[in-house]
Amino acid sequence: MFSRHQPLLQPLVEFVFPPLCVSCQRLRSDASSRICGECWKSIKPIQPNDILFRETRNKLIDTGMVDEMLAVFEFEEAGALPTVIHQLKYGGMSTLGVELGRFLGKRLLDSLDDPSSCLLVPVPLHSVKLRERGYNQSLVLCKGIAEITDIPIASFLKRTRYTRSQTKLSREERQENVAGAFEVPRNVSIGGKTLILVDDVITTGATTAECARALRNHGPKKIFATAIALAP
Ligand SMILES: [Zn+2]
Repeated sequence: MFSRHQPLLQPLVEFVFPPLCVSCQRLRSDASSRICGECWKSIKPIQPNDILFRETRNKLIDTGMVDEMLAVFEFEEAGALPTVIHQLKYGGMSTLGVELGRFLGKRLLDSLDDPSSCLLVPVPLHSVKLRERGYNQSLVLCKGIAEITDIPIASFLKRTRYTRSQTKLSREERQENVAGAFEVPRNVSIGGKTLILVDDVITTGATTAECARALRNHGPKKIFATAIALAP
């Protein structure tokens, strides 16, 4: 089997395995996207005025840990996004992550006052999960954002313990599950930078807030939470 991580083999891989949409598995006409036009249409964009956007943003800002938030899609069960996110996390689809990251990067450029004073901080995976998956989907998103914005990636946020999957947990349980689960090594100096915390999906915001709490102690100018999608 060919490795998905070797770009030189990509044309050969696409010859043997024609370009199929990661969501519906139909042949894609546009080779530049891993998602077909029909599936793109089924993914709902989210705007700052939407209720879910406002509620999630307010929740994060109320923690006192996060200063601003940006996300581009709403995580709806009906559309293609759940499959796309699943492939991003578990399907070995790092190229899909870069594509989604570029999308997020374009929106970030419109929202940031001074990209040159920012750092991209991926939400870390525990080393056990990293070994299982082979890559951190948040880091892959950061690579796509960096291509568009030229903002450097700073992977100094670490997960200190293994946390169980948040999927079936209530908001309170999620907070408990991730409490104290992240840290930044003591010798890291953030020096007044704006930190852009990057995750795939923000649901209750418990993980985001806990990551931001760990970053706060190191003197960032601002913490800007961002994700591909918000889930209710
Ligand atoms: Zn499709």
